[in-house]
Amino acid sequence: MADHLARGGRGALRCSLCGEPAVTVVRYAKLRLCRKHFVEFIKRRIAKAIERYTLIRSGWRVLVAVSGGKDSSVVLQILSDMSKQLGFEVIAVHIDLGIGEYSRKAREVVEKLCRLLGVPLVVLELRDLVGASLPELAARSRRPTCSVCGLVKRYLINSVALELKADVVALGHHMDDLLPYVVKNFILQNLGEIGKLGPRTESGEGLVGRIRPLYEVSEREAALYAQIQGLPVVEESCPYTVRGGSVEEEVRRFLNSIEERGPGTKIAFARAIARNVSFYRSKLGGQIGRCRYCGTPTSSDVCAFCRLTGRSLGRPMGPTVRGRIKEVVEKLERSRGNCISNL
Ligand code: SF4
Ligand code: ZN
Ligand code: ZN
Repeated sequence: MADHLARGGRGALRCSLCGEPAVTVVRYAKLRLCRKHFVEFIKRRIAKAIERYTLIRSGWRVLVAVSGGKDSSVVLQILSDMSKQLGFEVIAVHIDLGIGEYSRKAREVVEKLCRLLGVPLVVLELRDLVGASLPELAARSRRPTCSVCGLVKRYLINSVALELKADVVALGHHMDDLLPYVVKNFILQNLGEIGKLGPRTESGEGLVGRIRPLYEVSEREAALYAQIQGLPVVEESCPYTVRGGSVEEEVRRFLNSIEERGPGTKIAFARAIARNVSFYRSKLGGQIGRCRYCGTPTSSDVCAFCRLTGRSLGRPMGPTVRGRIKEVVEKLERSRGNCISNL
């Protein structure tokens, strides 16, 4: 874990590599680092994770899902930087969920970041695609907002990736997002679910694989990196963020207390999961067929998105949404380097 240092002036801790004032102590690496060396350290960690888990190959098209939060912004900035040397292409996608002021600010931040980095951006506005914002869709479906959000984002991002013929979708999940879910699924013995929480998931027919370049980076490290680099990020949390009381949060605290006593424990845990991911994946049951409306791979007759929209909005919206996304992507291909939205 990286401990941020507030101290300055005489007596301040010094960088182990250059003697400049340190901004953080990385205990698992036994290093105190200044701003410059911390940035290099994180970039190197991510480059190593990409190599260790074969997350990206030269010549690939990588679609980065960007929310406006610090984690996905870090992924976009680092991948856009690396893409020139390693010879892969980066495109960003942002879903405007229609959560009032929060979504407005998030979209603004993402557009600014993509302009700064010169990365082409696809913006999809949920209300325009299905005629309802996320809160409206959740209310009509009578399901928890975050579960509807996850389902909708997975469907839309996968559809954009398919249309763009992207090789992978890069997500901003870091260790502190993933490990609590691993533990929770282990407690519930949902072993197959753990197979989805490794550094990458495989592509399949109709399904684009997902990669997690921050797999060995902690939440605090990602936050410090974003702050030092001055990345534009939305400061407010989504109003639906669950605060306190969740099993994941309890486990996160527990893992952090173990990390305090044994620096490096979380990375060792993450690597162990990555080594055994195919075992966990083999526990995933269910025959995979195709949704009878939109053709998306699904374990039942109708995919989760078509089921949700069918029940809440009166008709399965998969085919309409896929058609709109196709138009948006064609627009992007015609006008490279710009921000394209479905409006
Ligand atoms: Fe979506 Fe819930 Fe996250 Fe808000 S807190 S962005 S509703 S998953
Ligand atoms: Zn230094
Ligand atoms: Zn469907």
